[in-house]
Amino acid sequence: MFPRVWPDRTNCKAAKVAYPTTEEELIKAVAYASEHNLKVKTVTRFSGTIPKLACPSGSDAMLISTSKYNSAIEIEPDQLTVTADSGVSLRELIDKVEEAAFSLATSPYWEGVSIRGLVSTGSHGSSWSGRGGSVHDHVVGINLVVPATSSEGYAKVKLSIEKAFKRSITYNFTSDVALEDMFMEHGKKFEFGDITWYPSRKTAVYRYDLRSPDDVSGNGVNDFIEKALETSKSENGKCKTADTTLAYKKLTGNG
Ligand SMILES: Cc1cc2nc3c(=O)[nH]c(=O)nc-3n(C[C@H](O)[C@H](O)[C@H](O)COP(=O)(O)OP(=O)(O)OC[C@H]3O[C@@H](n4cnc5c(N)ncnc54)[C@H](O)[C@@H]3O)c2cc1C
Repeated sequence: MFPRVWPDRTNCKAAKVAYPTTEEELIKAVAYASEHNLKVKTVTRFSGTIPKLACPSGSDAMLISTSKYNSAIEIEPDQLTVTADSGVSLRELIDKVEEAAFSLATSPYWEGVSIRGLVSTGSHGSSWSGRGGSVHDHVVGINLVVPATSSEGYAKVKLSIEKAFKRSITYNFTSDVALEDMFMEHGKKFEFGDITWYPSRKTAVYRYDLRSPDDVSGNGVNDFIEKALETSKSENGKCKTADTTLAYKKLTGNG
């Protein structure tokens, strides 16, 4: 979906790639690797992690892609949990959960990631409240396929969810004076609070970010410019955004 180029610009090589769509196919792929003594790396359709974590060692290795292992999302309303295939994208998961009048308590800032990829890398949003802003702290179960002849298993992730809520967000662009004293208070006061610091501009952007009831007005949508450009396949738009970002960073001494 979002093709990535590795930082060293070289390709990853593997002896074989499998694209399982079901648990059964996934188990078969792991069994094949086990039988042929191949090392396994899992790759997602996003590869949002910039280092080559998913790159295998070469001809002694096999890739298992979760790009097509993304159909099941099951909400268990009584348990306040949702179980998803590991290749499900964060956006698909959020949409399904919200449709059923629930919310994920936390998520990273970028939605173009798979549920298992983000859990594997400790991805997080902001929050010190409750269980905090790391998604893995909201995981209540993971089923793994392991390479043992008698084993069986599934590759799903079960997350806790909450009754649906919206978030009320206000940005305050202000002086960075006393930032070091303010951040603790800010984190305690605002459940999803966040601060972006631009030292060369002597500016701090405090995000006042609190949960609101689901019935307050507003559509609860925060659209990314980059996502809109990606969807409309606007290459010019993306180039212009990149130019503007670069010019802005130069102007601010890289923030
Ligand atoms: C624009 C952007 C913004 C971001 N913002 C944030 C943010 O706000 N907060 C934050 O914490 N992170 C952020 N990240 C980082 C991102 O959340 C992580 O890199 C995340 O791992 C990406 O998920 P992915 O599905 O692309 O995983 P990948 O990068 O494809 O994989 C990550 C790792 O997980 C392993 N893996 C994936 N699926 C499985 C599986 N089914 N079984 C076993 N192993 C598996 C892979 O082998 C690899 O080692 C951002 C990244 C981008 C590109």
